[in-house]
Amino acid sequence: MSEPARVAIVGGGISGLSAAYFLERDAAARGQSVQIDLFEAASRLGGKIQSIRQDDLLLELGAESFLSRKTPAVDLCRELGIDKQLRGTRAENRKTFVWHDDRLHPLPKGLSGFVPGNMNSLFSTSLLNLRGKLRVAADYVIPASRRSEDESLAHFMTRRLGKQAYQRLVQPLLCGIYAADGEQLSLQATYPELRKLEQASGSLIRGLKLRQQRAQQAGGKPLPPFVTLPNGMSDLIEAVAGKLVTTKIHLNAGVKDCQQHNRGWAVRLNADADAHVASHYDALLMSCPAYKTSQLLSKALPAVADPLNEIPHVSTATVNLWYAAKSFSHPLDGYGFVIPSHEQRGLTAVTWTSSKHHDRAPDDWRLIRGYVGRAGAEIDDEMSDEEMVAIVLRELKRTMGIHEKPVGTRIQRWLKGSPQYTLGHCDKLQKIDKALAEQPGLFLCGASYRGVGIPDCIREAGNAIEAVFDYLEGKT
Ligand SMILES: Cc1cc2nc3c(=O)[nH]c(=O)nc-3n(C[C@H](O)[C@H](O)[C@H](O)COP(=O)(O)OP(=O)(O)OC[C@H]3O[C@@H](n4cnc5c(N)ncnc54)[C@H](O)[C@@H]3O)c2cc1C
Repeated sequence: MSEPARVAIVGGGISGLSAAYFLERDAAARGQSVQIDLFEAASRLGGKIQSIRQDDLLLELGAESFLSRKTPAVDLCRELGIDKQLRGTRAENRKTFVWHDDRLHPLPKGLSGFVPGNMNSLFSTSLLNLRGKLRVAADYVIPASRRSEDESLAHFMTRRLGKQAYQRLVQPLLCGIYAADGEQLSLQATYPELRKLEQASGSLIRGLKLRQQRAQQAGGKPLPPFVTLPNGMSDLIEAVAGKLVTTKIHLNAGVKDCQQHNRGWAVRLNADADAHVASHYDALLMSCPAYKTSQLLSKALPAVADPLNEIPHVSTATVNLWYAAKSFSHPLDGYGFVIPSHEQRGLTAVTWTSSKHHDRAPDDWRLIRGYVGRAGAEIDDEMSDEEMVAIVLRELKRTMGIHEKPVGTRIQRWLKGSPQYTLGHCDKLQKIDKALAEQPGLFLCGASYRGVGIPDCIREAGNAIEAVFDYLEGKT
């Protein structure tokens, strides 16, 4: 019998873990025998997914749920046997607000993506004035653009829906996902389907309505739009890791560099004092953020490392705060609110966690989470915890009128944690793919490239593993 193929995976976030799972799952079916080493720099798995228990509360430090419409995450949960545990947000509190003109305005009902699909609710919103509303409705008659080159999301949305709707509606929601500057964000890399809908239907609103109708006709009982798991998103990490049988997981195993070695790949670990070659692999899958992968390959493979380093990442933080219910003055009657960037506040959004999600806090507690930092206003690395909490409290006082002191807080900084798909991102990906094609046995996946959401990361891990198998089988 031939020797098993050796595969190294660098990074134990959802991308690296699902890649290991797909490799193990499909190896037998493809008649392959593989031996996998997964290297994770931290002392735990999960990367930007981290749920913790503190004071009877369930805190999410990173991702808090995922979109069910993009199926790879739900499909993976089904395979792992945890799909029945998926749960939506608390329907009775379904309402989100936008901070504008010194008060909170409810988002218009019937938003599809960022776009108002319900004209009655559009015309009754206090968020836009009459001119802004009429401009949104003009989407029905403004012809589709003929341009084929990439454009920014701000440009596209302003062209379709007007500046007011972009600034007060689209930008703050979008910032919540990408922590991005919409003027810099590439439509082609983030929401290429919106451009296609515009072209196919001549109107964004009409196109999105048609898409919604088709999804409803497709039948089946749809899951709620955003889902999570009973013990938070870390349940997903534990479930994937729990299914790994043969993969060797190395924690506290930061990789120092990787290079070609004897028609394969050598991976050196930081901990190796004499920096000897840790091991030899037939294939190497890098699932850590692009700038990290760039660092690890910079000496041996500058042609790959340089374009990887062109993908910017910005630093943000989440701040969980909890209060005793009896002394808390705000009703938390919704899921929370977003803050447009032109308001120039110290927060980008606030989630009213105990009202949004089931079982996050006992009845006598109130839990909320503030988001700090975005492109153009990143968190300051030097800022102390006290300073950051003070900023959040000042903003909560201003926006929600909360004067009380929290019983506890938990800050999580995500330094260079949010990849930015800026204009030209797809060209960068092409450059990276071209450079990778010259390096047999080297593969990439992860949030830096083709989607930041958890379902995107899982899909891309699956695609990368297909390419790994093709390579091992001598097809590429
Ligand atoms: C605050 C926040 C909230 C979010 N909320 C949501 C949400 O609600 N829903 C959603 O779908 N998405 C959300 N996202 C995005 C999503 O969580 C991430 O895009 C996704 O988890 C990234 O997974 P990944 O495996 O690609 O990367 P990561 O999670 O970054 O994992 C990469 C891993 O590589 C490791 N690593 C780095 N360098 C090395 C090295 N040299 N050697 C070995 N290991 C190394 C890191 O320690 C890390 O564990 C959120 C992101 C953030 C920051």
